[in-house]
Amino acid sequence: MKKICVYCGSNPGKRPEYKAAAGFLAKELLSRKIGLVYGGAHVGIMGEIADRVLKGGGEVTGIMPQALVDREVSHTGLTELIIVKSMHERKAMMANLSDGFIALPGGLGTVEELFEVLTWAQLGFHTKPCGLLNAGGYYDHLSAFLDHTVAEGFVKDAHRSMLIVEKDPIKLLDRFIDYTPPLVSKWIGRENT
Ligand code: AMP
Repeated sequence: MKKICVYCGSNPGKRPEYKAAAGFLAKELLSRKIGLVYGGAHVGIMGEIADRVLKGGGEVTGIMPQALVDREVSHTGLTELIIVKSMHERKAMMANLSDGFIALPGGLGTVEELFEVLTWAQLGFHTKPCGLLNAGGYYDHLSAFLDHTVAEGFVKDAHRSMLIVEKDPIKLLDRFIDYTPPLVSKWIGRENT
């Protein structure tokens, strides 16, 4: 893996564990010589992970739509800042440049971005690993909800299991390396589609 895309909050959150997790993940990316791809802001957890990777001598690519450059305050010290026209272009470029996707704690934008790549994986549009870095148990309720989607017959267990959930970035990235995408149809009871 050469580049990992990290989705995370443009706010710092209330608990110190969230920023700390960005630091732990940055350290692990650096030790494995994996570059960071992210949304390009210098605020919140986004700014924290970019700063930590840059301080350690790593490569950081930020991708931001023009409309957000001023509002999200783009990071001025990145290895590369790519300005695109739209949010859709941003997400497509982040996905294309990366070999895997991790969500750190974050808000609506973070969840939206992660779930988009996860649904693309479910449809077989890509075979890259997706994971949650569950710092401080932030994503416990989301994980429980995903179990509920399986129990209620809306998602196959094989697809729910595509989302790798770990608290430790070392374990998460080790599981990324071993990841094998499921080869099953999205639709329950229609195995040939
Ligand atoms: P948040 O988790 O809401 O703090 O947002 C994290 C990042 O997601 C920020 O860079 C937002 O610009 C971005 N974002 C917010 N909404 C969307 C969306 N609908 N699609 C893609 N990115 C988004």
